[in-house]
Amino acid sequence: MANDHVAIDGTTSAGKTTVSQRLAMVTGHLYLDTGAMYRSVAYLALKNGVDLDNESGLVTMLAHHKIVIVPDSGAAAGYRVLLDGHGTGDRLFDPDVAAAVSTVAALPAIRHELVERQRRIAAEGPVVMAGRDIGTVVLPDARHKFFLTASIDERARRRQAEFQERGIDIPFDEVRAQIAERDRLDSTRAASPLRAAPDAITIDSTELEADEVVAQMRAVMAAAAT
Ligand code: C5P
Repeated sequence: MANDHVAIDGTTSAGKTTVSQRLAMVTGHLYLDTGAMYRSVAYLALKNGVDLDNESGLVTMLAHHKIVIVPDSGAAAGYRVLLDGHGTGDRLFDPDVAAAVSTVAALPAIRHELVERQRRIAAEGPVVMAGRDIGTVVLPDARHKFFLTASIDERARRRQAEFQERGIDIPFDEVRAQIAERDRLDSTRAASPLRAAPDAITIDSTELEADEVVAQMRAVMAAAAT
């Protein structure tokens, strides 16, 4: 079906990646985490020494690099990102990239370019697309829209555990403060701020396992199909 898309938006570290990946696996949709695109821009900016608010410089930089996202169920995030043909491993999830990403993601010209790319991917077939503006801007006609949240303490706990698994020790308060700052930047920016679409179903995952969230989504999708 041309528009069988699922939009999954939500706050930082609310579990979008895991849930979107698992949902796509059971529905057979392509899974696209748009955060990986914004993280790639932030990473390239840091690597090339381009100022995070240099909009035209970042757009020029972007034109010179090829970002490819390859589905890979063996990878923790469910995909691998190739920049100019080279794997990025966990680098896009490092703290310096996380601290930089919301600044570049606030730039309208960057969003314009990445949204075009996201829509081109969605034109190929049904996709579970995760991000901040999918239901509101990228795919406003998506058949299903979800908005995932969780308490800030729970999100900070999950993010800290992810870092710990990778051998990166960051104090809880620092992780919590960084998440709060990304929430603030993402929801107060002028261009496509983080918002639940009016027709999105909000799920609070504070007390839920990822599989329970997926089950709730599938129930909503099944009910809509009848
Ligand atoms: O989802 P993830 O944490 O990987 O996203 C990283 C950052 O990319 C977000 O904090 C946000 O600033 C930006 N982003 C966005 N719009 C999207 C996806 C991500 O602005 N659709």
